[in-house]
Amino acid sequence: MRLTSVLVCVWVVTAGAALAAPDTSLRPVARADNTAEPATASLRNMRPVARPALLEAALVRQLTRQFETGADPGFQRALESQTTLMSRAFAAVSPQATGWSLRPILRPDSMIQKAMAQRRERAKGAVCGDPGLQGEFVGFVPGRIAACGIEEAVKIRAVSGIALSQQALMDCTTAAAFKKWVDQGVKPAIGNAGGGLSQIRVAAHYACRTRNNQPGAKISEHGKGRAIDISGFRLRDGTEITLLQDWNRRGTGTMLRQMHQRACGIFGTVLGPDSDRFHKDHFHFDTARHRGGAFCR
Ligand SMILES: [Zn+2]
Repeated sequence: MRLTSVLVCVWVVTAGAALAAPDTSLRPVARADNTAEPATASLRNMRPVARPALLEAALVRQLTRQFETGADPGFQRALESQTTLMSRAFAAVSPQATGWSLRPILRPDSMIQKAMAQRRERAKGAVCGDPGLQGEFVGFVPGRIAACGIEEAVKIRAVSGIALSQQALMDCTTAAAFKKWVDQGVKPAIGNAGGGLSQIRVAAHYACRTRNNQPGAKISEHGKGRAIDISGFRLRDGTEITLLQDWNRRGTGTMLRQMHQRACGIFGTVLGPDSDRFHKDHFHFDTARHRGGAFCR
């Protein structure tokens, strides 16, 4: 009963306002073409049909474009708050419209949902918000001992379109560094040799162990999901390039040394066959940060 009387009140007030509207207001409340039946017409025109809907559609188009092109992970939150702001803005401009219709609230939301679904579809299999990192989100990985474990782990199976020989568990910081190295270090060094790079041989990734498996040594970065060991590369024609056999070889050795050099800085620690006896057959990369810059041997 109370709601009905409120509605009737609003009706009477707005219908009255509409009659006076053409002389006193530019708002699209009452229009000249409705003069024959002013009371009924004004009721029709109170509805949020023309202007709010157009404004809203334009805003949503703009937001959708931003959403589709933006890589900002905070964008969805921003979008949601903008949607709320939009609803409030309409309420301020046109109280009748938002009071009488659910459309201005519901429609942007469904359009945004659609845009988000499309984006998810495109990014299928992507982790760390990067389509170039294919794999799955794992989340918290508890360590066997307290010093081990990963807060937010991902399991990577392909980097920048190149398959890994085994899936590798790490955090997103390390995954991002890995991808940067594949793009800026590995691909340019190999170029079109053997038809180009087809697979990266992963020797180790997450493992709760001490450095170089030495008793009493500090926990390795491998135990924190911040390290990866690479032992070789396969080319499209089937050629295998390995750290063990090719590091000192002409041609392929030059490629490996370029990759090693380029990794320095992308990763905080870079160890290759020349560093010590533990790394004759693989590159060790990790994202630990050292005072005085990257440690590369
Ligand atoms: Zn290692």
